[in-house]
Amino acid sequence: MECPICGKRMKTYAVDFIQGTLAEENNKCPEGHYSYDYHYGETVWKIGYKFLTYHYTQSEEEYRRIKRKVDKLIKQYKQPKKVRRLKWSVDTVNKRLRRKML
Ligand SMILES: [Zn+2]
Repeated sequence: MECPICGKRMKTYAVDFIQGTLAEENNKCPEGHYSYDYHYGETVWKIGYKFLTYHYTQSEEEYRRIKRKVDKLIKQYKQPKKVRRLKWSVDTVNKRLRRKML
C-alpha cells in the first residue's frame, strides 16, 4: 500500500487476526500525510489532520459516501499550489548549487 499523497510505501505496524478474520491493521505514511486503520470492524482514515470513520454496521451507501469524502480530502491535501511551491524551492536550491560549483 502506498501513500496517496506522496506515493511512498506505507508502514504496516500491526496486523492481528482472530480465527482467520482480520481484526486489526494499521497503515501509515512515513511522512505522516495519511493513515488507514482497521480496528475490530471500524475503519479510520486520517488525511492530514482530518479523520473519517466507517463502522461495518453502517450501510454500503454510507461507506461510498465516506470514501468519496476521503478521496476529496486527498485531492485537497495534494493542492497544486503546494506542489508548485515545492518545485520552486527545489529549482532554487539547484540553481544555488550550480552557482557554487562554477
Ligand atoms: Zn505520504
